[in-house]
Amino acid sequence: MSDTKTALVTGANKGLGYEIAAGLGALGHRVAVGARDGARGEAAVKMLRAAGVDAFAVPLDVTSDRSVIQAADLIERQGGRLDVLVNNAGISGEAGPGWVQDPTTLDLDVVRTVVDTNVYGVIRVTNAMLPLLRRSGAPRIVNISSSVGSLTLQADPNIEVGPIMAVYSPTKTYLNAVTVHYARQFAGTGILVNAACPGLVATDFTGFQGRPAKEAAATAIRLATLPDGGPTGSFVNDDGVIPW
Ligand code: NDP
Repeated sequence: MSDTKTALVTGANKGLGYEIAAGLGALGHRVAVGARDGARGEAAVKMLRAAGVDAFAVPLDVTSDRSVIQAADLIERQGGRLDVLVNNAGISGEAGPGWVQDPTTLDLDVVRTVVDTNVYGVIRVTNAMLPLLRRSGAPRIVNISSSVGSLTLQADPNIEVGPIMAVYSPTKTYLNAVTVHYARQFAGTGILVNAACPGLVATDFTGFQGRPAKEAAATAIRLATLPDGGPTGSFVNDDGVIPW
């Protein structure tokens, strides 16, 4: 089997996911570019290849069992092994002015869609990719979370945590909890799974407020390339550990 590592990044056609894919590619990984829209995925692959990255497109809608199974089949045919999975795809749900998601007026259909993408999507993709990850000598899983999922920060009235985002923030809390349980399940197997907060990043998601996605990709790239024995079940940003 080839020494080249293969990394799957979900939602890699733009934003943070694209830059994580580019960064892992620059480190010599072969990158599986997950994208729910085929044309957007192919366009990203073209750009990555132009930058010298060994990339291929993987049609992948994280909310669809069928799409996720087909993505695992495609990666299996492309080499049979996955070394890195970055669960990056995510959505915020609708928000009112000032990004407020008022818990007293939530549309439960919106809540379901955001949970399905940000949480169930991660579980769906992780479990489908697990047989491929288990073939790696050093499997790494990175879940892109957010400090707005920290209950410790959200519950402290003395800390400025931005607007109330009662749909989005709890999905990242849930994702953090899921990350911890995967880490417990994988203890002793060599699979390391961690959650990363990229900070506020200038992407479509934020209306391009925040820091450049290329800079924000660094934490995820570091977690994707941890040495054996590295941390697992952690929730970190550039500055270190984030409280749960
Ligand atoms: P973008 O909106 O720029 O990109 C989101 C990506 O996720 C797109 O590729 C989008 O695809 C994809 N996606 C959405 N739904 C699905 C789905 N059902 N299946 C597959 N792919 C999907 O956002 P960011 O790059 O900013 O966000 C990436 C991650 O970073 C998210 O998990 C977000 O929660 C997290 N994050 C972002 C922060 C920020 O400040 N930007 C801060 C903290 C965390 P498409 O192009 O087809 O819509």
